[in-house]
Amino acid sequence: MKQRGILIVVSGFSGSGKGSLMKELLKKYADTYALSISATTRNPREGEVDGREYFFKTKEDFEKMIAKEELIEYAKYVENYYGTPRAYVEKQLEDGKDVILEIEIQGALKVKEAFPDTLLLFVTPPNAQELRRRLTGRGTETQEVIESRMTRAVEEAKGMEQYDYLIINDELDSCVYKMHEIIQGEHHRISRNRSFIQSIKEDLECNVKGEK
Ligand code: 5GP
Repeated sequence: MKQRGILIVVSGFSGSGKGSLMKELLKKYADTYALSISATTRNPREGEVDGREYFFKTKEDFEKMIAKEELIEYAKYVENYYGTPRAYVEKQLEDGKDVILEIEIQGALKVKEAFPDTLLLFVTPPNAQELRRRLTGRGTETQEVIESRMTRAVEEAKGMEQYDYLIINDELDSCVYKMHEIIQGEHHRISRNRSFIQSIKEDLECNVKGEK
């Protein structure tokens, strides 16, 4: 019996390393996971490709997607819109893939409200100094953007308790493994196996009555 995929939200401070973590997880377990590609109104960074990192949209096009209810959720983050296209996520879940949304906290909480069985994971570096080091080391952001992301991290940290699991990103490979274990463990939850339980109950009853 094919189980429906699990909807997973991965959040973490910008610079927490969650992007590399996702890339590695998808490379290692390509048949298990599907990564949702978000729409955004922010400008592409160097090396980013439309349809791969994001669907890059104008503000007008993004607002049309909102109006047509084509997004599961959306949020404004540092002056830009970000949102999750609905169609891809629903199709992949239906096909039994675990779908990962790499989104910030406001969006995460909206998804959890709309789909209560969503699994919320929060990725953090071991400390603040390491976060600043990673943001600076990227070399793609201005000092002003770095400061606004550090300030935003202070705000986001206030919501960490609303997540289901914490992943401290100190070493990439062990983090990828931990994340995979957590997600696969979720498949065994009683609440995710209602139809199997129903069918084994019926099977047992028939077997005891001698009907085959
Ligand atoms: P960045 O500009 O660094 O790529 O992303 C900024 C923030 O927006 C990150 O925290 C990222 O996880 C979040 N984000 C990316 N896509 C979405 C989305 O579809 N919805 C929401 N709510 N946040 C998103």
